[in-house]
Amino acid sequence: MTQKRIAIFGSTGSIGKQALEVIDANRDKFSVEVLTAHTNDELLVQQALKFNPNIVVIGDDKKYSKVKEALSKTDIKVFAGEDSLDDVAAMDCYDVMIAAIVGFAGLKPTLNALENGKTVALANKETLVVAGDIVMKKSAENRAPIIPVDSEHSAIFQCLVGESRNPIEKIILTASGGPFLGKKPNFLVNVKRDHALQHPNWAMGAKITIDSATLMNKGLEMIEAKWLFNLKPEQIQVIVHPQSIIHSMVQFEDGSIKAQMGLPDMKLPIQYALAFPNRIAAKFPRYDFKKPNTLTFEPPDVKTFRNLTLATDALNKGGNMPCILNAANEIAVFAFLRNRIGFLDITEMVERTMSKIKFIEKPTLDEYFESDGEARQFAASLIQL
Ligand code: NAD
Ligand code: MG
Repeated sequence: MTQKRIAIFGSTGSIGKQALEVIDANRDKFSVEVLTAHTNDELLVQQALKFNPNIVVIGDDKKYSKVKEALSKTDIKVFAGEDSLDDVAAMDCYDVMIAAIVGFAGLKPTLNALENGKTVALANKETLVVAGDIVMKKSAENRAPIIPVDSEHSAIFQCLVGESRNPIEKIILTASGGPFLGKKPNFLVNVKRDHALQHPNWAMGAKITIDSATLMNKGLEMIEAKWLFNLKPEQIQVIVHPQSIIHSMVQFEDGSIKAQMGLPDMKLPIQYALAFPNRIAAKFPRYDFKKPNTLTFEPPDVKTFRNLTLATDALNKGGNMPCILNAANEIAVFAFLRNRIGFLDITEMVERTMSKIKFIEKPTLDEYFESDGEARQFAASLIQL
């Protein structure tokens, strides 16, 4: 097997670091060609010295000379700035992009990779939430596959292998419920950043950890699933499964349900996406059916966790509404992480922004960018950021 050349966009994040662990354990199968970071120059340099990529990009231009200097004894090319991310994504030096940048910032590089005919292992769900129609069209037009990395979508993707002629009746997205499962607004009103950052089952970047606590993450995942698997909103069900062992399920037209299971570990979906259509042997810990275990399921409390309702509204409405929801949420989470607003204010800000920004039914890419900008500005104005 020839080595697949991997470009990790967002290599210093939680997904990026785990992707490098997977690659490190399979050096015969994968080589690292591109690494990118936003601000963490020290980790980027460390990763570059270990994996010897062709190119590194540091988003923050002010750190260019530091990175250049630290890599001066190597052949590694160093670029800086946002535009460089887009340019490198459009280069021909890699086979698979791991899209592991967080938020709207991941959209352009991912679009460029698809335009360039590259396979995208997609962790960055916001890309599909913001402009899913355009992203999926680019993927189809350029025969550039998107392989999901998000654990729920990887589960569904795995359940669908061998089922290409069989229509899906519905998918069941599992949610852990996050750290505040069972809590009510009178508790949530006092929740602080550090408590919300403690996820029971997964160690992830700060933004997705807060999204998991507010259930916005599951809302974004519903929209992500719509685009990845070409589903109608009514075919997407969310169920709370606090143990996070079943990563999601597909129900077919005969009523049969397939589930993908395993201990919660993002390295598994990352590795699956990189190696697809093959599986690679790995020593990840196994689920043990001999231990006393109970798998439980319950409907989400959408009255308390209203973000899920807002995301469902955006999913049903379509157009630029998911883009508006996402932008307001990014601002709100940013503000919450800086202790500028309370936990319940996140939902409030998203709701107000969704009712304020002009609805566009079939936006162009430019209109998605404009909606994103307007929604961010409005959301920020609510708290004078
Ligand atoms: P993270 O915050 O740990 O890492 C984000 C990465 O993106 C870093 O390398 C950072 O340098 C880069 N980055 C941040 N802002 C940037 C910008 N403006 N421009 C360029 N680069 C930027 O995030 P994460 O937890 O690794 O999540 C990454 C993506 O994967 C998110 O979209 C998240 O929803 C998704 N995801 C993560 C997990 C998980 O377990 N962490 C699971 C499923 C999906
Ligand atoms: Mg997920």
